[in-house]
Amino acid sequence: MDFQFSDEARMAIDGAKRFAVEKLGPGAAERDEKAEVEVKLLKELGELGYLGMTVPEEHGGSALGAVAYAGSVVEVAKVDAGVAVAMSVQNSLVNDAIEHFGTEAQKGEFLPKLASGGWIGCFSLTEANAGSDPASMRTTAVKDGDGYLLNGTKNFTTNGAIADAVIVFTRCDLGGKPANSAFLLKKGTPGFSIGKHENKMGIRSSSTTEMVFTNCRLPKEALLGEEGKGLKIALTTLDGGRIGIAAQAIGIAEAALDESVRYSKERVQFGKPIAELEGIQFMLADMATEVEVAKTMLFRVAWMKESGAKRYTKEAAMLKLFASEMSHRVCHKAIQVHGGYGFMKEYKVERLYRDQRITEIYEGTSEIQRFVIARGILG
Ligand SMILES: Cc1cc2nc3c(=O)[nH]c(=O)nc-3n(C[C@H](O)[C@H](O)[C@H](O)COP(=O)(O)OP(=O)(O)OC[C@H]3O[C@@H](n4cnc5c(N)ncnc54)[C@H](O)[C@@H]3O)c2cc1C
Repeated sequence: MDFQFSDEARMAIDGAKRFAVEKLGPGAAERDEKAEVEVKLLKELGELGYLGMTVPEEHGGSALGAVAYAGSVVEVAKVDAGVAVAMSVQNSLVNDAIEHFGTEAQKGEFLPKLASGGWIGCFSLTEANAGSDPASMRTTAVKDGDGYLLNGTKNFTTNGAIADAVIVFTRCDLGGKPANSAFLLKKGTPGFSIGKHENKMGIRSSSTTEMVFTNCRLPKEALLGEEGKGLKIALTTLDGGRIGIAAQAIGIAEAALDESVRYSKERVQFGKPIAELEGIQFMLADMATEVEVAKTMLFRVAWMKESGAKRYTKEAAMLKLFASEMSHRVCHKAIQVHGGYGFMKEYKVERLYRDQRITEIYEGTSEIQRFVIARGILG
């Protein structure tokens, strides 16, 4: 076993850390307060290669691999979890789906632009009445000449308002049998528009919107993967997505731990820093241990993906479940270490506590992860 990062991965993760601290740090609290999505910052990340980390060089990617990607998302999430989710969606839900299921023409047209940050992408699966149960989606794709006509509304789409490339999942009719298909389309396609912009509890520097399709005509070349295999494409892609969300959750937790260590050395009660109190030390020890366990899992599952494991569904679900719930526990303790100050917006742990919450919900709730793990164990 080798627990060292490769030199390339180490450099990439260090670079992400520098970018996060220098470029994302100064405006992070303000972006959260104003719910501001700064596309410029995402594009800068793209120019540095961080939006195409698992895309091969021949398709314009930096090909740094899943381990470097996971470590980089951790560093970005420590500073701005909203930017981290945008980065995660682009790398693991959009690029990976195109790389694995796209035609050569789709790869050639979309991947170089996405991998360089020229374009932002989104992955639109969820609907108002189809969340944990995506098979019940109502958006339809009906054959229309040699193309398709899409109708319906998707919701809660990350990067929705800023996306140039959209992956959308629909119902379709395969000779009388209901099935699902995936499509890849561009912003500006007639019949496609952005609906409601969500006002969120956390990750407020990311965009979350409805995506509306009204008689939206797509040529047959817009089909992503095989007709009728939409759900399989979505679920396979989400295995990789869960690595990104786990990395986001770990970054948030690590930041909460760092803030708590610093604060406990500064805050004096009963004539000494609270870091000298055993009650505080035990909380810090538990927080640090939990972060360490989750990080070890993160890089193992990322390594499985990078080394070409065919499926790592159960392991990705375990990782996402543990990392997101661990992050919840750590952020909870971080507020406790900060006392009343942790409840105030001036302190970063207040934002981390809100940002953490979504990691237990999107890309499959904790209940759905337990369901996937149980199926993996029981067969
Ligand atoms: C900020 C944000 C960003 C998002 N980004 C995207 C995106 O980019 N693309 C996208 O497609 N979607 C996105 N989503 C949607 C997200 O993936 C869903 O919200 C999530 O999958 C849960 O679906 P739901 O909200 O409909 O909850 P529901 O499915 O209605 O779940 C409600 C409750 O019931 C539980 N439950 C449901 N089924 C079961 C079961 N079988 N067993 C036990 N418990 C169950 C759930 O765990 C949960 O506790 C985003 C959501 C948010 C809030």
